[in-house]
Amino acid sequence: MSDRRKFLKTAALGGAALTLGLSASAENPEVTSSKKKKKPGPVFKGGLVLSTWDAGISANQAAWKAMEGGGKALDMAEKGVNDTEADFRNLSVGLGGLPDREGHTTLDACIMDSNGMAGSVMFLEHIKHPASVARRVMEKTPHVQLVGEGAYRFAIGEGFPHDEYVSDEAQKAWKNWLKESKYQPIINIENHDTIGLLAMDTQGDIAGACTTSGLAYKIRGRVGDSPIIGAGLYVDNEIGAATSTGLGEAVVRTCGSFLVVELMRQGASPQQACEEAVLRIQKRHSNFKDFQVGFLAVNKAGEIGAYAVQPGFTYALYKNGENKLFKSASLIQPK
Ligand code: ASP
Repeated sequence: MSDRRKFLKTAALGGAALTLGLSASAENPEVTSSKKKKKPGPVFKGGLVLSTWDAGISANQAAWKAMEGGGKALDMAEKGVNDTEADFRNLSVGLGGLPDREGHTTLDACIMDSNGMAGSVMFLEHIKHPASVARRVMEKTPHVQLVGEGAYRFAIGEGFPHDEYVSDEAQKAWKNWLKESKYQPIINIENHDTIGLLAMDTQGDIAGACTTSGLAYKIRGRVGDSPIIGAGLYVDNEIGAATSTGLGEAVVRTCGSFLVVELMRQGASPQQACEEAVLRIQKRHSNFKDFQVGFLAVNKAGEIGAYAVQPGFTYALYKNGENKLFKSASLIQPK
């Protein structure tokens, strides 16, 4: 028998054994059925907005206004983060953000809709509302991600104005940094305000957006977690959504937001899922004490979760007619 024929014969026998093996295990009472499905629970329909850091209060307000104007979860997410992007005093979001090592502010953003569609822009310059460009990528192209010059040209083609705004404060901080040019890819706990926003409309549908100028003094071209679907943001309208802030590299390595949503799918509460994702980051990073990462999550019942590596992570929740700022629990305890 030729080697090839011998191989085919063995492979066929292997296939038969596999089939037998499968049916045997299906009869084994120790093996749970893969067909068993969890019944979906009640869906919260009161409307809710959850977003990162202190700027979240104003962003939540803008999202709520969009909902009252007839907007759906996607409009709430976009309009909410647009509010933070337009605040040029914010040193971590929008054109007022701290620049890269070469003195240029470069922006990353993404957006996800309730139907699983997503759009993202990375390394984008001179555009005030990267999250809106991300929405346009999602709605008007067959792609998910556009980067750099291509993202900029797409934005201009879509009618977004070129904006030359340069923040004096950010430039001053950069010039100060240049004196030592010390590059430590760690994130100081006071040094970021990336906005990740999760919105639930009165139909109970969920969408989200995340937008940032990224890590201050990053290598030119560096992209963090914020515009990466599954890292900085993930929405699964059957289950819930999650977003992150902090040292993007640590979140990308662990697919943070996707992980949180998948843990919720397996039955974890939003809080348990955020805590587990932070523990995963701790496990993978021996230097976890030197950086901050925070997660927010919401499920279909309108329950929320928040957890961070370091104390100091704040988040804003607009629910039941109240828009309030909270301190998140953390792995490392406050001193
Ligand atoms: N996550 C952002 C990044 O790594 C930074 C931040 O949250 O401030 O680009």
